[in-house]
Amino acid sequence: MTIAVHPHKQLTEKDAATMRAAVFHGPGDIRVGEVARPKAGPGEAVIRVTLTTICGTDVHILNGEYPVKAGLILGHEPVGVIAELGAGVVGYEVGDRVLVGAITPCGQCHACFSGKASQCGHGTGYEAIGGWRFGNTIDGAQAEYLLVPYAQANLAKIPDSLTDEQVVLLADIASTGFSGAESGGIKLGDTVVVFAQGPIGLCATAGAKLMGAARVIGIETDRNRAAVAQRIGADVVLDPETVDVVAEVKRLTGGYGADVAIEALGLQVTFENALRCVRPGGTVSSLGVYSGKLQLPYDAFAAGLGDHTIVTTLCPGGKERMGRLMRMVEAGRFDPLPLITHRFALDEIGEAYRVFSNRLDDVLKVAIRP
Ligand SMILES: [Zn+2]
Ligand SMILES: [Zn+2]
Repeated sequence: MTIAVHPHKQLTEKDAATMRAAVFHGPGDIRVGEVARPKAGPGEAVIRVTLTTICGTDVHILNGEYPVKAGLILGHEPVGVIAELGAGVVGYEVGDRVLVGAITPCGQCHACFSGKASQCGHGTGYEAIGGWRFGNTIDGAQAEYLLVPYAQANLAKIPDSLTDEQVVLLADIASTGFSGAESGGIKLGDTVVVFAQGPIGLCATAGAKLMGAARVIGIETDRNRAAVAQRIGADVVLDPETVDVVAEVKRLTGGYGADVAIEALGLQVTFENALRCVRPGGTVSSLGVYSGKLQLPYDAFAAGLGDHTIVTTLCPGGKERMGRLMRMVEAGRFDPLPLITHRFALDEIGEAYRVFSNRLDDVLKVAIRP
């Protein structure tokens, strides 16, 4: 893999028509360069990005495991300041600090009005994963400026009391992790198992506690991540390399099994173990991104007669969701700061990708400052 960074172009007078951005040129090839700066059309906004991050999904793209077109700017977690407002966007001023979700629903289509905005059909109908556009089908946030589509539905003003670092992880991983707990329908007093304590699993762990679980059991091999999980909401963390996690969850629940299991990795083994951990009538809430075929062994779900619920969730976005998550941070209910372990400038993003994708130096999330 070649990750190169172009030397910073020295401009005596910053050319207002261009900006610096991390451009995907093909698998293994991301470079920071000078590209055209976006302009806001009707219903759109341009924000000057003040903070963003790298997601595991960006690493999948860079590894060639999820195809996007060459020339795309990656990244889907924007915090910034409104630089330009297109016609028809009301209630905002240039200079407002805003958080934009990783998912930018149109707010007008069948999916959006049916409460499934992440499957937004861009003005009509439904499209699977259609709400995810940044760094997927349109230019993303690892840049100095970002064009926000459907700005009226997607610009969430940031309260003065919150810093950029306190809100940047709400755009995706906190929204995704919490949604795994919400979709699982966790009830007061439930036992919840969360498979994998990466950034999203950690947020699912925090979300399970917020939803009222009496006991949260994390599953993780990495000792640092296990320790963070216990700080953020896990009562116990099991290492699947040394413990039979299905047997241990059964033992901890008096033989019944967990009420809800959240899968936050996207592997056959974790999905299957999640299913094997839950009691009859229990719920598997899946957040993982899978490839190939996922198998459902008949004995793991009572041959289809166990009243199990299997639910999948894509990160919820839109300004209402972002506002709700910011209120959780503002109220002190959730602190995302322990998850930000490293900080880089945009021009150092190649190094940030290297550290993040190889999980060097106990990294959890990197903050990127354009
Ligand atoms: Zn993401
Ligand atoms: Zn829509």
